[in-house]
Amino acid sequence: MARGDNRYLDTRGNMDETLSFTQAIIKGLAPGGGLLVPQNVPTLTLDEILGLASMKYADRAAFVFKKFDIDLPDETIDSLMHIAYSDNFDDERIAPIQKVADDKYVMELWHGPTSAFKDMALQCLPVFFSKAIEVLRENGEAEEDFLILVATSGDTGKAALEGFKDRDHIKIMVFYPHGGVSDIQFKQMATQKGTNVNVLGGQGDFDDCQTSVKRTFNDAEFNEHIKKDFNFKLSSANSINWGRLLPQIVYYISGYSQMVADGAVKAGESIDICVPTGNFGNILAAYYAKQMGVPVAKLICASNVNKVLTDFINTGVYDISNRSLVLTPSPSMDILVSSNLERQLFELTGRDGAQIKAWMDSLMKDGKFEVDPDTRDKMKELFAAGYATNDECLSTIKSVYEDYDYLMDPHTAVAWKVASEVETTHPVLIASTAHWAKFGFDVYRAINGLPAGSELPEEVTSLTGAQLNRLIADKTGGRKVPAGLDALDDMELRFTDVCPATKEGVEDQVDSFLRA
Ligand SMILES: *Cc1c(COP(=O)(O)O)cnc(C)c1O
Repeated sequence: MARGDNRYLDTRGNMDETLSFTQAIIKGLAPGGGLLVPQNVPTLTLDEILGLASMKYADRAAFVFKKFDIDLPDETIDSLMHIAYSDNFDDERIAPIQKVADDKYVMELWHGPTSAFKDMALQCLPVFFSKAIEVLRENGEAEEDFLILVATSGDTGKAALEGFKDRDHIKIMVFYPHGGVSDIQFKQMATQKGTNVNVLGGQGDFDDCQTSVKRTFNDAEFNEHIKKDFNFKLSSANSINWGRLLPQIVYYISGYSQMVADGAVKAGESIDICVPTGNFGNILAAYYAKQMGVPVAKLICASNVNKVLTDFINTGVYDISNRSLVLTPSPSMDILVSSNLERQLFELTGRDGAQIKAWMDSLMKDGKFEVDPDTRDKMKELFAAGYATNDECLSTIKSVYEDYDYLMDPHTAVAWKVASEVETTHPVLIASTAHWAKFGFDVYRAINGLPAGSELPEEVTSLTGAQLNRLIADKTGGRKVPAGLDALDDMELRFTDVCPATKEGVEDQVDSFLRA
């Protein structure tokens, strides 16, 4: 096969033509609302998988990308990966695995610049995105620069800012709900460095910010204006972009090779993988790793009380018609519509685009759909699923800390709790998606045995996030807070402006940012 022969099609069968990898990551979403997937998911031999253990992480990632036959030269892939995964991470193993309990291994996906797992994809995608713009320009397929526009409830925005800062042909602008994010989240964004970045507090809640950003994307006249006057196009680079999924597949393949190298499992023996799940991206990456040859017995899907996915896996019915969102200590999993599930269903139905389109139409219209018995059985074969209540989440943080001297964040704790309930004879690899220091208040509640949502004393609530983290670190035997989080109180606040969280507010800000 020539380089780049592995083309991209869409999950709803709407596209007449297939796309190259570079086109797919620039486009993000297919016309008609479907998601992009490669025609061919490659397989690796066990030897190829095990061979990764002797490579640097960047080379492991390059190896997997080349297997997907993406339309860039090998040397380019190599050099981009060494930009994506190097000393921007605070551990040279990038995604190290800790044995925490008998047969429970935690893969720490938060050693990147923002201390959460979104970095694993968002340190990589922007490097390829910027290169893809260059390629498309050379081919005469594009001439614009791109403005990445993001509405965030806190964590994704920072990871996107770090990933896209100072990338060629790109600017990035992030809207968060003013007063609606934690001190740590606010300072992480407000102190953002880089010459192509901007951050605004929207006067409204997250929904207002998200709706306003979506309406800006859909405003044809405004898009015309920024194209004509500034030569810019809008892009979201969100979690349904294939360019975010592919780097996530890498760490599961890499993780298995590492577990074999460390003697945690014998070559060829199966593991289970447990993932705290929101939009279904991270666990879908584990599914693809299994398809590619990693010996995985069960994929364990862990939810918080917003357990629409757990119920779906157990019943075959996806139903949000009577659910409202509940706030939990694991906010990045407070999601009802799991966008990436669409790709999973596409694969399980033998890539039946018409069927996927029908289910997604039904979800849109009635707030639910039910899969056929065959798909349901396949799902039950592949997945186990469970959930943790808010109090169970916090008590898990406490008990794992007390039993194993390992401090977890609330998202990881949800996964730990669910992994502990599944009957298995395999070692379990648990995806740890955030450092505990990003969620100080709930970690404080957890180690002090306080219930979820309980009032905290004034001497705790008056602390900055960094001060609270030092308090927790001291109380738990002097553990380390990531340098980037610890330094936040001393850094210059560059972005403190607010604007109306309306379409007009967003468009005004975009206009002046591109004009500057
Ligand atoms: C985004 C996120 C998740 C959920 O990942 P999905 O890919 O959306 O399932 C879990 N934990 C943390 C900390 C996250 O930021």
